[in-house]
Amino acid sequence: MASAGGSGTQVRKSDEEWRAILSPEQFRILRKKGTEYPNSGEYNKTYNDGVYNCAGCEAPLYKSTTKFDSGCGWPAFFEGIPGAINETRDADGRRVEITCAACGGHLGHVFKGEGFPTPTDARHCVNSVSLKFTPANMA
Ligand SMILES: [Zn+2]
Repeated sequence: MASAGGSGTQVRKSDEEWRAILSPEQFRILRKKGTEYPNSGEYNKTYNDGVYNCAGCEAPLYKSTTKFDSGCGWPAFFEGIPGAINETRDADGRRVEITCAACGGHLGHVFKGEGFPTPTDARHCVNSVSLKFTPANMA
């Protein structure tokens, strides 16, 4: 149900419309649930101050203050910006997919209870390709 003035902007585009604004790699990952090669991502090891936005619709997804080094080869965050990310269990029940709440773009998977020394003990394992970083001094 829509509520006036809410921040839950919904972005709906066809595959053709997404293809027009995304790179082939962004389209493969965001819209077709692909995965980038581990340790290949632009944001794997960056810890600058700022916000990570959705590469598809630019919705803010993660703050740099929640990013940590998980050693897994992809950017890792211990929590998303509240309401920005949807969690859906995969059909095989093993993993939980995370998607942008605004456009449905595939981000990666979330793993919980692994013992990381973070406030949530959750690891949002996110493809760099799904993100666009905005430095704090540019926001
Ligand atoms: Zn999005």
